[in-house]
Amino acid sequence: MTPEIYLDANATTSVLPAAAASALRVMNQQFGNPSSTHYTGLRAKDLMASVRSRASRLLGASGGQLLFVSGATEAIQTAALSALCAIRERRARGEFAGHLLVVGATEHKAVPESLAHWNRLLGLDLELRVLPVDAAGQHDLDVLRCMAPHAAIVCTMAANNETGCRSNLAAIGEILQQAPNKALWLVDCVQALGKLPLNLAATGVDYAAFSGHKLYAPKGIGLLYVRGGAPFTPLMVGGGQEDGQRSGTENMAGIAALGAVLEALEDGHTFRSQRDLVRLRDLLVASLQEALPGLVFNAPLDKTLPTTLNFSVPGFASKELLDLFDAAGVRVSAGSACSAAKAAPSFVLEAMGLPAWQAAAAVRMSFGPAVSDELIDQACERIRACGSALRASGLCGASHHNTPDDGLLQWSADGASTWLILDAASRSCIVLDALPALEQRLLAYVRNHRLRVLAVLVTHTNPVHNATRLALAKNLGEHLDSAALTCDNTGWPASCPVVTLGNNEVADALALGSLTLARLASTGGQACLLGEVHEKSLHPGQVRFAFIGTGALVASATPLHADPAAEAAMRHLMDAIHPGTLLCAADDMPGLLASTPRADAQPALEGAHREIDLCARTLAQFLDQHANALLVDVREPFERLAGPFAGTAGHPTLHLPLSRLVNQLHTWLGQRELQRPLVFVCRSGNRSAKAAACMRRLGYSTAWHLAGGLALATQVDG
Ligand code: PLP
Repeated sequence: MTPEIYLDANATTSVLPAAAASALRVMNQQFGNPSSTHYTGLRAKDLMASVRSRASRLLGASGGQLLFVSGATEAIQTAALSALCAIRERRARGEFAGHLLVVGATEHKAVPESLAHWNRLLGLDLELRVLPVDAAGQHDLDVLRCMAPHAAIVCTMAANNETGCRSNLAAIGEILQQAPNKALWLVDCVQALGKLPLNLAATGVDYAAFSGHKLYAPKGIGLLYVRGGAPFTPLMVGGGQEDGQRSGTENMAGIAALGAVLEALEDGHTFRSQRDLVRLRDLLVASLQEALPGLVFNAPLDKTLPTTLNFSVPGFASKELLDLFDAAGVRVSAGSACSAAKAAPSFVLEAMGLPAWQAAAAVRMSFGPAVSDELIDQACERIRACGSALRASGLCGASHHNTPDDGLLQWSADGASTWLILDAASRSCIVLDALPALEQRLLAYVRNHRLRVLAVLVTHTNPVHNATRLALAKNLGEHLDSAALTCDNTGWPASCPVVTLGNNEVADALALGSLTLARLASTGGQACLLGEVHEKSLHPGQVRFAFIGTGALVASATPLHADPAAEAAMRHLMDAIHPGTLLCAADDMPGLLASTPRADAQPALEGAHREIDLCARTLAQFLDQHANALLVDVREPFERLAGPFAGTAGHPTLHLPLSRLVNQLHTWLGQRELQRPLVFVCRSGNRSAKAAACMRRLGYSTAWHLAGGLALATQVDG
């Protein structure tokens, strides 16, 4: 297995060996409870005191308190409760308290959620106001100046976890100090610890939150700084630990480990200097720019922590780049939630006003300040290998050695599909329902495979698809067939040969190799049929694929009777195709991939409800019991190029990217009686689940998938 290059330090870090050793020592030997009054307890108490005073020195926290807590979420929670209780008391005394809860637009969810929670529970009814940021992630100080006199609490993180954008705490502090009644100020310092100099007592910060696991300590330990004189209300009461301010027996292993990290930070030998970090960051920047043409950084590098990079690449979803990097053993994270069919854009990037595609396609690469030159060198090498894999697949950059695919390509983005119909022999293709997110990739693919595009079509009237159709037609230049230059508003060339369809309709047609694409006009332009024409007729039995635009893949999902036009269109379609024709939609939010009219008519085929999941542990057993099983690796070719996997060595494996799955369906479904077990596999189990579910729905009852994906399988093997 490829050694892992972990570049997701903003999510969490490994534990520093010295920290792990300290934790182990505390668990094995110095395991006392600091509340015990015997020698073992006193030693534990002494250890706690020494870690606290080291932290106080490093953070410039003199005059304030540092409490050991479970992590930043608890620290933030405690600060929110403390500040809100103080506001309630001020109100009760008839003093000025402010009525606004001012929260930076890019704060970690823990901040606004905690404030909203306690605001509601305490019945304070304070108004949550978002403090906007600019394109560089910097708080709008003019807006803050206006809000400050009315603010009860102000929350401004020191550095952002997604982008690494540093906040101008000095300027914020000055504005708050100048307000007639200074608001209570909470600063989430999670991403700043060990990366930015902090001198808390010198600022007007009232509360600051820290988390150990973002800086080489284990999960479950953190710190809360409370300025001397700032109001405090405990979140947890009980045994009275931490002077009654945070009850519960202390996490001594965590405290010891944090102490070791702070010691390393203080002695200056373990952590790299800012200069080194910037130099290493710049190496990553150069390799990314070289590997991924068109890449844009989502925050200006001079405003960010040198340990965080956030970028987007035109034509690629974050999920795809994550798959690619993961295959190469480089662990990065998506800047947006990507488990859903439609990637939720990053609220941080949206708040910075970045274009929608950038906010939805972001990738974060982050490393810790104890990084080594070797790690970054290896990372750069692998990033370059990722770029080569993409170029070899013809999906970006320029390369002219590629053999085009043959048949259909289904590219998905945000719950929709773009279809390419390709004829490798004549190097020609037709594009259907091109999505804006895929425009750059399409252009690269066409250029790199020297394809002639016979038409760029839309199957329905959607302004976004139409705009992309026009943009593509313009940008394809010499690759667009001259006949396609004069076309109607769905992209169909003005003069086309015609064929007769099964419903007796005479339809425009485009020939592509041995197949013909015909436009079914009676569906209101919703459908195009692809099949073999004989004697100028496309008989229903010869229609292999029907591109149904926004039509539902599962007819039962739409109550057709509610829409007579749709019902009529569906009837026209059914007259022109056959029960086994594969339906290919432009909209596919549920991720069904494709369907057939037959599948919809027989929902309860035998085996369709059986579990489709195989877990990594049962895979070997399953393969032993099913000698004829075929493993189907549905990862895209660029992933396999970036990092082949050895998880299923020795067993027949078919490489069939999910984007090419539809090409194989007729063959498998035609051999249904053989029931060869199919086990779909991919990186994380997401795509393989879709493929297996699609097969089951189509009536192939022996389709399975490896839940958890190859990553877990490899782990079990190794
Ligand atoms: N604040 C920021 C900026 C973070 O990055 C995180 C962790 O992702 C948190 C708060 C929450 O920290 P913890 O996991 O210690 O509760």
